[in-house]
Amino acid sequence: MDTVRMEKQVPVRENVDVLVVGGGIAGVSAALAAAALGVDVLLIEHFAVFGGNATSGGVASFCGNTKGQGRALDMIISALEEFNAIAPYRSAQDSRVFNHEILAVILPELLEKNGVKVLLHTEFVDVAVSDGEITEVFVSGRSGLEAIRAKQVIDCTGDGFVGIRAGFATMKGGSHGYQLPMSLMYFVRHVPDEDKACQVPPGWFERIETADGLPMTSIWPNGPKSNAIKIKVPMFDSTDTRSMTKAEIAARRKMMSVLDYHQRVEGRNFLLDHGPSVIGIREGCRIVGDYILTVDDLRAGRSFDDVIAIGTYPLDGHKPDDDKRTYILPPEERKVPPYDIPLRCLIAKDGKNLLMAGRCLSADQLALSSARVMTTCSMTGQAAGVAAALAVKEGKEVRGVDAARVQAVLREGGAELDRTKVHHYR
Ligand SMILES: Cc1cc2nc3c(=O)[nH]c(=O)nc-3n(C[C@H](O)[C@H](O)[C@H](O)COP(=O)(O)OP(=O)(O)OC[C@H]3O[C@@H](n4cnc5c(N)ncnc54)[C@H](O)[C@@H]3O)c2cc1C
Repeated sequence: MDTVRMEKQVPVRENVDVLVVGGGIAGVSAALAAAALGVDVLLIEHFAVFGGNATSGGVASFCGNTKGQGRALDMIISALEEFNAIAPYRSAQDSRVFNHEILAVILPELLEKNGVKVLLHTEFVDVAVSDGEITEVFVSGRSGLEAIRAKQVIDCTGDGFVGIRAGFATMKGGSHGYQLPMSLMYFVRHVPDEDKACQVPPGWFERIETADGLPMTSIWPNGPKSNAIKIKVPMFDSTDTRSMTKAEIAARRKMMSVLDYHQRVEGRNFLLDHGPSVIGIREGCRIVGDYILTVDDLRAGRSFDDVIAIGTYPLDGHKPDDDKRTYILPPEERKVPPYDIPLRCLIAKDGKNLLMAGRCLSADQLALSSARVMTTCSMTGQAAGVAAALAVKEGKEVRGVDAARVQAVLREGGAELDRTKVHHYR
C-alpha cells in the first residue's frame, strides 16, 4: 500500500491524571469512579452524546442485576428513576428497559456535577508510547489535532482502539475468526388504522414475503404506542472503516425490508420513528490483559483474589455467520454460575499505564458474550477508574496498586463482590 509520512506540531491541550477514552456505559462509569477519588479526570467521546450502545446505539435496556453494581450505576439508575424513565426493579434477573433519549440528557449532567471534565466531538486517533508507557494521546475534533497527556489511560472505546494504536496485543473474534454479529436497533410508533401507510416504495429494497425470509427480529415495547426493534446484521468488522461503512448501509437496507414486511405483509400500523446514530456492536477488539478470562473460568465459577466484578448473565453468543436466531451454544450450555472478573483482566499486559473496561475487557469471545451486558460493563469501568485513580494518588504503575484497596473502594460504593451472595441467573 502506498504510504505517506506526516509530521506536524500538535498543541498539548490537556494534562490530566486520568484520561478515559470512549463515553459508553463503561467509560462514563470509569470517569465517575475515578473522579470520586479526587483526581483530575477527562472523558473524551467522538459522538455528540455519552452512553455509546446505550444511547447512540439505541440499546435501551439493562441486562443483569441493576443492584449491587456500585455507586456509578446506582447514580445513573436513580437519575433515570427521577425522570420516570426506567422500568421498575423487579428481580435480579429482569432486564430494565429505559428511555435512551433521557439517558443521553442525564449523563453529561452527572459527569459535570461529579467533577469529570468532558470533551464531545473528540475522536481518539493515536498514541505515542515509550517503553510501554503511553506518553501522549492524539485526538481529532472540531479544533483539529490535539495532544493530551495523562498519567493513566483507560480504553473504553469498545474496540480496543488505544491498545491497537499503541501496538499492544489485542484479540478479535472467536475460533471461527468472526466477531459476534452486530445488530441494528430502530424504533417505530403506532399510528391509528386510518393513518396506516406503507413507507417503502417498490424497487428500493429487497422485499420479504414470508416470515422465513426475516432476519432475527426482536420486537419489544418502548413506552406507549411504540416498539423497539432489533435486527441481526452479521459478518462485518468493527475495526475496519470500509467494513463498517458497508455494515451501516446493509443494516438500514435490512431495516427497510423488515419495515416493509411488517407494514405490507403483516399489516401492522408501524411507522418508522427513528434509527440509531450507529449500528450496535456486540464485540469489537479486546486488549490482552495480564490475564484472559475464559469461558471455562465462567463455567467453573472460578474465584480470583483480585475480583472486581461479578458476572451472572448467560453466554449470549449469537452465531456470527448468519442473520437468523442462531447461537454458538445450545440452550443447555449457555447458563453460567455467578463468576468473578479479576482486576488483572483490566490491565493491558504490554503497557504500564493502560487499563481497559467494558467491551475491551481481556476475555475470550464467549466469556465476553456474558460480561458485555451493561451492568457488568459499568462495574469493570468503575474498577478501572478506581485502580487508575489509586495509581495516580499512590504514584505507582497501575499493576502495583493493591487489589484489596480497589475492592475496598468498590465495596464502600455498594458493589457486591462475593459471588456466593449473588443470585444465579434463571
Ligand atoms: C444490539 C445489541 C443489543 C444489546 N442488548 C443488550 C441489553 O439488552 N442489555 C444489556 O445490558 N446489554 C446489551 N447489549 C450489550 C451492551 O449494550 C454493550 O456491550 C455495552 O453497552 C458496551 O458498553 P461499552 O461502554 O463497553 O461500549 P460502547 O457502548 O460501545 O461505548 C464505546 C464508546 O466509545 C466511543 N468511541 C469509540 N471509538 C472512539 C474513538 N476513537 N474516540 C472517541 N470515542 C470513541 C463510542 O462512540 C462509544 O460511545 C447489547 C448490545 C448490542 C450491540
